[in-house]
Amino acid sequence: MDLNSKLAVLEKIYRIYGDFAATLDIVCRRYCSLCCTVNVTITTLEGFKIAESLMPEEKRYLFEKIRRASSTQRFRPRETVNMLAELSREEGVVPEEDNAFPGECPLLIANECSVYNERPFGCRCFVSKQNCAESGSATVDDFVLTVNNIFLQVIEHVDAGGFSGNLTDVLLFLENAENLLSSKMINPSSVLIKNHPLKILMIPPEHRGKAQPILGALNKLKY
Ligand code: SF4
Ligand code: SF4
Repeated sequence: MDLNSKLAVLEKIYRIYGDFAATLDIVCRRYCSLCCTVNVTITTLEGFKIAESLMPEEKRYLFEKIRRASSTQRFRPRETVNMLAELSREEGVVPEEDNAFPGECPLLIANECSVYNERPFGCRCFVSKQNCAESGSATVDDFVLTVNNIFLQVIEHVDAGGFSGNLTDVLLFLENAENLLSSKMINPSSVLIKNHPLKILMIPPEHRGKAQPILGALNKLKY
């Protein structure tokens, strides 16, 4: 699949998730940004979608902001979600990683996401039934977590050949125009992880029936 086809599929995936999220009883709203932390992870395809949406001046400003914040400690995953799915099948366990570093997302400006319409899936799927400021953390149904994993796995699959990593690292990698346009991206640093194709979906038996409509909608995309 070429880059434009991948971007079109990604847009449709976001739309399918948006329809699902619209059915949920959640309290998330504009300017509520406690979840906008420095620990968000994305794929290079999602990063490309963000970077290409920016006007030159806006891009200069945001990348400068990202660069200034890049010395902040942040979550840098060692495994992608499809790697974790394979590990879980082979070893029955999913290794845990410390993903709770303090600090806010460099794309947050005055409590508002500066790339809201293009925000990555990790932000779209971060939802809560209770206000995090009151409950201390997000309250999410197990089924929603299962659905989120399905989408994360499919997005990684669509971007097989690309990389995953912390939002800051992926965007800094993509700032280089050659990296943006290359169909065979080469990872110059060790902070990004190669995306894996989807081999097995992580769906607990109790959610398999309920997840069928979503799986059906995603399968129609022929990714
Ligand atoms: S997940 Fe929590 S912090 Fe984020 S928008 Fe929803 S309620 Fe607000
Ligand atoms: S990309 Fe936008 S929605 Fe996502 S964490 Fe950053 S500011 Fe928040």
